[in-house]
Amino acid sequence: MVIRFRCLALAAACLVGLGCAGDDGAPDPADLSELVQAPAPVQVYGSWHCGNDFCTWGTVRDMANFDAMNHWLIDRGNGSPSVNLVVLSFVNPLRLLNHTTDTATLNGVPRGMTAAIVNYFASHGVRVMLSIGGITYVDDWNTALDSDGAQLGRNAAALATQLGVGIEIDYEENTNPRLTALQDFINAYRAARTLSQHGLGAAIDFNVPENQPGSSTRPFGSMDPRIVAIFEAFHFRFGGCFNPRDPMHFEYCETPCAPASANAGTLGRVITPRMLLPLRATDRVLA
Ligand SMILES: [Zn+2]
Repeated sequence: MVIRFRCLALAAACLVGLGCAGDDGAPDPADLSELVQAPAPVQVYGSWHCGNDFCTWGTVRDMANFDAMNHWLIDRGNGSPSVNLVVLSFVNPLRLLNHTTDTATLNGVPRGMTAAIVNYFASHGVRVMLSIGGITYVDDWNTALDSDGAQLGRNAAALATQLGVGIEIDYEENTNPRLTALQDFINAYRAARTLSQHGLGAAIDFNVPENQPGSSTRPFGSMDPRIVAIFEAFHFRFGGCFNPRDPMHFEYCETPCAPASANAGTLGRVITPRMLLPLRATDRVLA
């Protein structure tokens, strides 16, 4: 009877994501929630970077020369960077849309905007963005948006992924901006660049080899139910309750979250007595 009760209790914990472990001195999930959501001041010290050719970045740079000219950006003299963001300016939107290759452009990207340049900054903790546009390319922005704003957004997203950079929109049309097409650009870019919970820093995987997606050897893969109970008490959704199962996976929810109820029922049925013996953590969570 005890085992059966605990089966139900664990299933209930999985189902409703109970989070009330504060009575006995354990951290209260509400405190953790406040910590995660604590506002942090925005501190950006950025630099627009026009290369050495008036913002065309039309040639591949010699890295020794580039370092000589730019070292102050990555080292202010004490080893720390002078900025935390560098914006490489500018990418021509029409060439990016058409994946143009010419003397100054390779597959739509200025030849000077290379992985080596990005890594020069990124390896010192400086984020890198590419700026699309600038006053010189207003007409090309318009032409590209009139042609296919969504495709331009997808091309920009692919470039951002390829180089590990962000993208800045510098669209300086002030008389007849193509706002609908620009929104198409933004929507397509965001759709292609949606981050996973891991990418957002809100998920963690444990013991990957024994907890592969769809694992059916045990309802939890090899995951100890006490670990599951503790994570759920702190607003983490357990991937073992997903369909298909992802028992290596826990992801944070701002509010207590319930797993898929159908799978929670399965968990209650197939859990084994041996797994249920050390359930004190769950007992406390449910108390
Ligand atoms: Zn995961």
